[in-house]
Amino acid sequence: MTGCVEFEGYIHPGNGHAGNVRRDGVRKHAYVWAFLDAGGVLTEEKPWVLHTCDNGGCVNVEHLYAGDARDNVRDMFARGRHRHQNPTCQRGHLWTAENTYTRPNGRRTCRVCVSIKQTEKAS
Ligand SMILES: [Zn+2]
Ligand SMILES: [Zn+2]
Repeated sequence: MTGCVEFEGYIHPGNGHAGNVRRDGVRKHAYVWAFLDAGGVLTEEKPWVLHTCDNGGCVNVEHLYAGDARDNVRDMFARGRHRHQNPTCQRGHLWTAENTYTRPNGRRTCRVCVSIKQTEKAS
């Protein structure tokens, strides 16, 4: 795999994502255009352009793939960069990729807590 190609335009300072590029009055993220230019197709099932390299400022089409919101959420958990939420569950267990089960509605379930509850029920 080749290295990341940083977008040379505006990079969002908060999330590091490449900014919007306007073409014929349509605004899309720079990496979305890069993906479409390379012949990529976005469908209703997979409407998002995601990065395999976890670098939102990257416009290297080799690092881009179509996915859905669930892929996106899963990726964030897998890479442990879900910064906006607590790093632990209510009981203080870390949200690691192994310990986190993400339901189809996007809510997280702590596997340790689930097993504790099951043990409590059994006793
Ligand atoms: Zn990249
Ligand atoms: Zn827990």
